[in-house]
Amino acid sequence: MAEVILDKVSKTYPGGFEAVRAFSLDIRDEEFVVLVGPSGCGKSTTLRMVAGLEDITGGTIRIGDRVVNEVAPKDRDIAMVFQNYALYPHMTVFRNMAFALMLRRQHGAFDNLLGRVLTPGRFRAARQERQGIDERVRAAAEMLGITSLLDRKPSALSGGQRQRVAVGRAIVREPKVFLFDEPLSNLDAKLRVEMRAELKHLRQRVSTTTIYVTHDQEEAMTLGDRVVVMKDGVVQQCDTPFATFERPANRFVAGFVGTPPMNFLEGSLALDGDGLVFVHGPDRLALAPEMAARMKPHVGKNLTLGIRPELLAVAGGWRHAADLPGSVRVTEPLGDRMDVHLRTRQDEALTARIDARTRVAPGDDVMLQVDMERVHLFDTAAGEPNLSLPPEAAASPA
Ligand code: ATP
Repeated sequence: MAEVILDKVSKTYPGGFEAVRAFSLDIRDEEFVVLVGPSGCGKSTTLRMVAGLEDITGGTIRIGDRVVNEVAPKDRDIAMVFQNYALYPHMTVFRNMAFALMLRRQHGAFDNLLGRVLTPGRFRAARQERQGIDERVRAAAEMLGITSLLDRKPSALSGGQRQRVAVGRAIVREPKVFLFDEPLSNLDAKLRVEMRAELKHLRQRVSTTTIYVTHDQEEAMTLGDRVVVMKDGVVQQCDTPFATFERPANRFVAGFVGTPPMNFLEGSLALDGDGLVFVHGPDRLALAPEMAARMKPHVGKNLTLGIRPELLAVAGGWRHAADLPGSVRVTEPLGDRMDVHLRTRQDEALTARIDARTRVAPGDDVMLQVDMERVHLFDTAAGEPNLSLPPEAAASPA
């Protein structure tokens, strides 16, 4: 087990494309960190640089107490689980899982032969080592519920079973660091959710330092101790799942984390007596007092108001609610909840996730209520930072 430290790590591909820019992150021993972001944001490149499968063009990567920039992948003491599992088709599950350990043992035996004659003592040691491999494979198989599959070939396994074998193969190696590259993306939606829970359960028993890459924000939120949100090769925020959701550093993170995504309304900030209002066309939404006090310096600026769909209701009953008229376009019942798609009077789209028993239908004009204590205000300037965070949260988002 080990900590992993990335210090200003960059990758510029031949041709000049900057896939990763000055990526810095300290991953604690036993921590589970998820890199998440849209396709092409550089998350796989970052993982592959940690694995040693991709040269880095700037910065330093440290695993434990060793800088590994120049260390070959096989010598980094990492185990990687790939999206396509990369199992050997001609080997049984047992051999697939044991292969790396057997390889290690054979190298040891070869050295022995070169240097010395195989004495009875060494022969006994080799047998013990073989038994050790057998035990490790069986213990991992037991943990993953695949003991009955050990004699099968990968072609006789389902996608979920193959995925377990790939994870098992990583576990038996007892590496310092696990690297997962989109390990669930080849599974159908239901199995993905099941396997996600299994990985989480496994995590409670095997606490190896882990870097996990996914484009699925829900997977990132459910699995990570910390989540690193990336865009265009740049870290946007590195925080706990709760903090990335509740205190997004900028508009990109706010829109990326959460389902359905956060609503954004364009407008400006104006004084209204002692308080402040967000002006969106003909609508004026009064800020909650605490946020108004923080936002005073930004009066007159063009801003974007971020409202999560759960913070819109027809009758919210919130302490600091603002009214916002809307017209219903589509309703999507989801069991106990319902997603309602509306337009504001400024013709901007909104989604509200409300109680399914609320009586609304397409064509209705409704008065929505907005929970103004939990909205966000983003500067429309470069990077669209979140201006409404309390100072202690704003100080440490990335
Ligand atoms: P995905 O989820 O689609 O795998 P990602 O976030 O993992 O995306 P990367 O695979 O890290 O993205 O790629 C980051 C960027 O680097 C992409 O724009 C990609 O086109 C580019 N890239 C990757 N490999 C090369 C290469 N060998 N040469 C040039 N550009 C590359």
